[in-house]
Amino acid sequence: MYKETKEELLEICAEMVRRNLVEGSAGNASARVDDHVVITPSSVRYTEMAAEDMMVIDMDGKVIEGDRNPSVESPMHLEVYKNREDARAIVHTHSIYASALTLLNRTLPPILDEIVPKLGGEIRITQYSMPGTKELGQRVVKAMDMRSAALIANHGALCCGGSLHEALDVAVLLERACRIYMIALQVGKPSQLPEDVVEDEATLWEMMKGY
Ligand SMILES: [Zn+2]
Repeated sequence: MYKETKEELLEICAEMVRRNLVEGSAGNASARVDDHVVITPSSVRYTEMAAEDMMVIDMDGKVIEGDRNPSVESPMHLEVYKNREDARAIVHTHSIYASALTLLNRTLPPILDEIVPKLGGEIRITQYSMPGTKELGQRVVKAMDMRSAALIANHGALCCGGSLHEALDVAVLLERACRIYMIALQVGKPSQLPEDVVEDEATLWEMMKGY
């Protein structure tokens, strides 16, 4: 089932590694197809992963196809899909700058013009929850309200999009923005975009998402 989606997911995983968003088998990605989710397997290194290793689960997390175990973060992915019609794909990273920002318990403010139209605005951070729990998924959904991404406390980031490539673009942009923000923080107090600009640009995000 879903051969093309599995191949695309494998491609996205390779890009996640190439862009230093994940390492080893950490992080995960998925795509929603009808009432099923195609998701990366648990504990398989990206460099050794094949399209056939991708798992198909239903919206309750039941395995529909595949010989591996689905990602331990499946409950988080399912919570997002159940609550966000616009999310057709998820890229969950443990990227360095986004993760570092979560240790400071800080949000990513709207500091650059490209952030708001693509991410929706200030990127919030969840309360801490254990990985693999439904609670973590619920907290991500809450932090990601009207946004394309959320920072996950002491963990990493979750990014969603209308397609796998879109979710990957969000993850790349988020990591880049976190990096710029952390560099600026080391020197002084980073300035934010004017409030009216943030409002106008947030409208662009809503239009692109179909809200
Ligand atoms: Zn994780």
